[in-house]
Amino acid sequence: MPKSIELAPEVKDFLAPKPIPMFIGGKWVEAADKGTFQSFDPGDGSVLATVAEAQEADVDAAVKAATEAFRKSGWPRMPTNDRAVLLHRLADLVDKHRSILAQLESLDVGKPYEAARDGDIPNVAQTLRWYADLAVHTRLREPIAVTGFEARQVRFPYGPVAFILPWNFPMLLVGWNIAPALAAGNTVIIKPAEDTPLSTLYFCKLVSEAGIPPGVVNVVPGYGEKAGKALSDHPGIRRMGFTGSPEVGRLIAAACGRNLVPVKLELGGKGAAVVFDDVDVESVARDLVNAVTFNTGQVCCTATRWVLHEKIWDQFVPLATKFMEEVRIGHGLDAATQMGPAVSEKQRQRILGYLQRNEAEGGEPLLPGGPAEVAGHPEGYYVKPALLAGSPDYTACREEIFGPVAFLLKFRDESEAVDLVNRSPYGLANSVWSRDLARANRVAEALVAGNSWINAHNLFPHGVPYAGCNLSGLGGGVLGPDTYFDYLRPQSVVRPLE
Ligand code: NAD
Repeated sequence: MPKSIELAPEVKDFLAPKPIPMFIGGKWVEAADKGTFQSFDPGDGSVLATVAEAQEADVDAAVKAATEAFRKSGWPRMPTNDRAVLLHRLADLVDKHRSILAQLESLDVGKPYEAARDGDIPNVAQTLRWYADLAVHTRLREPIAVTGFEARQVRFPYGPVAFILPWNFPMLLVGWNIAPALAAGNTVIIKPAEDTPLSTLYFCKLVSEAGIPPGVVNVVPGYGEKAGKALSDHPGIRRMGFTGSPEVGRLIAAACGRNLVPVKLELGGKGAAVVFDDVDVESVARDLVNAVTFNTGQVCCTATRWVLHEKIWDQFVPLATKFMEEVRIGHGLDAATQMGPAVSEKQRQRILGYLQRNEAEGGEPLLPGGPAEVAGHPEGYYVKPALLAGSPDYTACREEIFGPVAFLLKFRDESEAVDLVNRSPYGLANSVWSRDLARANRVAEALVAGNSWINAHNLFPHGVPYAGCNLSGLGGGVLGPDTYFDYLRPQSVVRPLE
């Protein structure tokens, strides 16, 4: 299949410099040691861009720039209305450059261009506006009624806040993470994933154009073990937000613990969908296939364990198999593509490894999945969707695969379904599917996780907190009104009354 979407001249221009510099203190700079790394197109394995690689010295410069901006740029003390005007301007610029950002996102992650253009990128603008408006309508000075004292609580931004982010929704997660921090008056340093730094770097152009003061937003692209570690270890940061795997989350939390820096961890998941026997089976099968193939299954909260009532199993499985076989796999810039490649060869091998392990453990696939070939792109990192079944103790049913793979389990009654779901050490998101809303609501509350959805999967309205518990994270999550307060430190001011 050809790439049917023409690259915009702005995208070509942006990718041309060797290297694309990093963004520190409002300036585009090369790495102190002139080091670089490459970003690849997962759709055909080619080199997309050469990017400046941040090391400890560059991270230190970025934290210093964010600290300086916090002290001197006026950003933290700017009236909330004025800051909101700048964030709205940034949101407008994101909308205006939507197709450029979407092309970069599609190229770098492999996701279908349309999904980025109509989903990820507009979501960034919405998140910026949502937190800017919330900030305008929030009181940061509250009198406290206590006998014998005049007292109040005031909230102030913390200072430089660091964010280390993953590769599956690079731009959308920049929005979810930095919007509340910026609306509250903090400055930020972002370390994007090494696989997908491009949209975050382009976004910095818009930050400057919006008139946000230099040093308020800084981006240090590079590898986790170097740039990421240097950032999480840095004693100059005042808060940390991390989105990624539980393994790295532990390292980040330990580093923050050493420096006594408050940390938010948004980690992996092993989401389940519980499907009762009173549903429209065909429609739910379609919805769940769409959920697990969305973003090539590289979605932390997606429905990876399908817990089906035994009465619908025989009708559900052939339908789900058919819908999975119909998914059009291709390059993100081919308009016909429904599911792009895995983000990297490493990720593709991880997915294929779980399929092999499931067979080795005795699992018989309902649809085997495996490598996919896409005409014209023999070097792309493509995989086919898969449906697995077997014991809930199999590795593929317990661990996060992060690919278009669903593991099917059968249940007889409600309590068995709840037990099956709650066996997981993760706790991010699950869904319940039933026409009986009393039952659906009861089960939704019995599933242990940060989020339960009813008759849908993957719902993220602004204003509803999205967080994980247990192995899926800590620290309050994102997207809720409380997330804004997480980026404000409370301070009491008290005077004895005579
Ligand atoms: P990852 O943990 O490997 O990497 C995430 C980030 O951490 C990257 O920027 C990476 O460079 C950096 N990093 C790696 N090692 C580091 C170290 N030693 N010190 C500091 N930083 C380091 O995760 P990934 O493979 O990029 O993303 C996939 C994971 O992210 C999955 O587990 C997925 O579920 C999770 N995720 C969670 C959410 C959520 O909202 N809960 C959202 C998206 C992704």
